[in-house]
Amino acid sequence: MILVIAEQRDGVLNKASWEAIVAAQQTGQVVQVAVAGAALDAVAAELAVAEVEAVLTVEHASLEVYTPDGFVAAFAEVVTSTDPGLVFLSHTYQTREFAPRLAARLGRSLITDCVAFKTWGGRTPTDLKFVRPMFQGKFVADVAPIGPSPHFVSFQIGAFRPDSLNRGPATAEVRSQPVALESGMIRQTAEPPFQEAKQAVDLTQAERIVAVGRGIKGQEHIALVEKLAASLGAEVAASRPICDSGWLPMDRQVGSSGQTVAPKLYLALGISGAIQHLVGMKGARTIVAVNKDADAPIFEVADLGIVADLFEVVPALISALEADA
Ligand code: FAD
Repeated sequence: MILVIAEQRDGVLNKASWEAIVAAQQTGQVVQVAVAGAALDAVAAELAVAEVEAVLTVEHASLEVYTPDGFVAAFAEVVTSTDPGLVFLSHTYQTREFAPRLAARLGRSLITDCVAFKTWGGRTPTDLKFVRPMFQGKFVADVAPIGPSPHFVSFQIGAFRPDSLNRGPATAEVRSQPVALESGMIRQTAEPPFQEAKQAVDLTQAERIVAVGRGIKGQEHIALVEKLAASLGAEVAASRPICDSGWLPMDRQVGSSGQTVAPKLYLALGISGAIQHLVGMKGARTIVAVNKDADAPIFEVADLGIVADLFEVVPALISALEADA
């Protein structure tokens, strides 16, 4: 059985949880989904549309607000009592914090930031090994977990498509999974989440992104990109030099040292396509690139490429969208 740990905050499910469920479904193994929090009826009902054996609600007053200690203690209990062969998570910020501690607490291995899995001829108890980029995406390694199960695996956002979800013929059984937590177990007090800080944006949830690179030449031209993004109902993102220069805030950066995004549309304007940028956006459903240089590496991942000056293309796009509105 594969246990997927889904993620919610204030009753809103993180979209990336669907991707981890899809990954688990595609292995062909039995899947259960666990979600932690304080009042989970609505989230559990939402998850129960998936074709899974059960949705486990891990409810406790101490889990209302996420803390690493609370989640490690709760999921250590859940994993021990449900005894899965594998535990799948999406590689969110929250997962990055608590999953290594959870795996260490149980003395098990964790393979992070995977993009796929492969079968391995029965050489591991779960028959699977996991594919993960290494060295900023220059290499891709197959990693096989060894030692006793369960093995923990986190998947990069965008590696699996939520719309590939198998929905059940009927809703899945929702079961309460009680945990015994005491306040002394939790040493942290939560601050308001990162996304709610001034100007912070969670690009991982955006359906459309207009991203800008050094081809934009100067901060005074960012407004042009913002105008296009507004016409498309998109978030604005950027390559690292744009954020390093302070032309856009750091939370708009996409790439290995920024956010990993998986929108339906990623429009890359004047971005060369360095590997550190590509690892953050190549999971986008449709990539459209505008670049003056026909040999720019961004065109290797683009579904549609326009070899042109962005200062001609962007105003034309805005006019076309405005004429259409
Ligand atoms: P450039 O590489 O300078 O490309 C600009 C592009 O614009 C060119 O292809 C050019 O042909 C095109 N252009 C110029 N004028 C026009 C025009 N008028 N119209 C159309 N096209 C035009 N980068 C990230 O983005 N995210 C990261 O998270 C990140 N992390 C990094 C981590 C490390 C450890 C390191 C070493 C680097 C990292 N980088 C990251 C930097 C990365 O290596 C590249 O330097 C960066 O992505 C390049 O940004 P760019 O494409 O905007 O600029």
